[in-house]
Amino acid sequence: MPGTELFGDEERKEVMDVLNTGVLFRYNHDDARKGHWKSKDFEAEIAKCTGAKHALAVSSGSTAVSTMLAACGVGYGDEVVVPPFTFIATIESVLMAGALPVFAEIDETLCLSAEGIRAVCGPKTKAVLLVHMCGASADLDGIMAVCAEKKVMLIEDTAQALGATYKGKHLGLYGKMGSFSFDFFKINTCGEGGVIITNDSALIKTAEYFSDHGHNHEGNNRGMEAHPIMGSNFRMGEINAAIGLAQARKLPYIISQQRKHKSIIQERLSKIPGLSFRKQCDDAGDSATFFHLLMPDETTARACVKNLGEAGIGVGYWFDNMYHYIKQWDHLKDLNMPYRMVAHELGLPQDLKTLKFPKTDAVMSRLISFNIRVTWTEAELDAMLVKMEGAVRRAMEGVAA
Ligand SMILES: *Cc1c(COP(=O)(O)O)cnc(C)c1O
Repeated sequence: MPGTELFGDEERKEVMDVLNTGVLFRYNHDDARKGHWKSKDFEAEIAKCTGAKHALAVSSGSTAVSTMLAACGVGYGDEVVVPPFTFIATIESVLMAGALPVFAEIDETLCLSAEGIRAVCGPKTKAVLLVHMCGASADLDGIMAVCAEKKVMLIEDTAQALGATYKGKHLGLYGKMGSFSFDFFKINTCGEGGVIITNDSALIKTAEYFSDHGHNHEGNNRGMEAHPIMGSNFRMGEINAAIGLAQARKLPYIISQQRKHKSIIQERLSKIPGLSFRKQCDDAGDSATFFHLLMPDETTARACVKNLGEAGIGVGYWFDNMYHYIKQWDHLKDLNMPYRMVAHELGLPQDLKTLKFPKTDAVMSRLISFNIRVTWTEAELDAMLVKMEGAVRRAMEGVAA
């Protein structure tokens, strides 16, 4: 949670600007706000950081995904290819759009693979909702080629990958649109918030209207604005935007610290025989928010998680995680929603109760991840690595013996 590590006076100052005027709303009230437009400034900062032509702030990463799907025209009965390893929000947004998720396999990139996508694309497939999991890029060249071949659009759920690039271009700019989350657990946080980026000026307009009941934000009488479409309230508030703005300005520092720490970790752990790592599609572009170990097999991985816990090192074993891996998503498999959705009417394209993900399981069961901290001192990082090397080596020996 790098953003939360660096909370300080900068965030407080931006918030006070808003509280001092009392204008908590992002539109209108031009005189009362005394020149403070935090949502607009936040959007401009994210556009600058990412190189996007347009950025739109919304209320969360989840509503950002919903807004992208809406703007891209994904709705009733459309099949959307999604990964089985993601935060559940990705899938919920597809279902709430009235669309149908279709799961494909991931590989050691921790993201959907091109061949996984190809295997499930059919005549009803409208889009691939690609998640750049844990802060680094999927195999975009391969995936864009499949999307072109199958004539489906690419949309990027970049919630976890602010600051990450592929071949020099920011993630989220390869597909039609990309979205970031600023919830409490992401690279930058503003409490709750999301930002959509795109280079497409028509799509960003539709997204803007959708995120605010269709308001076209022209003129200075909100009640008299035209409403080209309907939407909902997915607006960002000025207090959240103020925090997001201060956090976004810290992004270059966060990413450079994380990358520095990642290279130290990489160098040290590379010396352990038999240990492998996440496959990087563009190693230099990794936001370096997480470090990932790929153990030789599930038994070694479970032993290693136990050893690391005993050594006081907090790690994630996603294979058992309730919110990030399909193995634990019984509520999805049962389509447990408080209301009747399109998916109940049409049925899901795959039988999720019996569908197996052998390739994904083979990666997930071996995967151990931990956060790379921004604020580690060299001594702290070294002490952590000494413990980690011991825990990993013991797990490998225990299994070899
Ligand atoms: C966090 C996250 C979201 C949702 O973001 P919120 O701001 O928590 O709503 C969506 N997709 C992925 C991949 C995420 O990690």
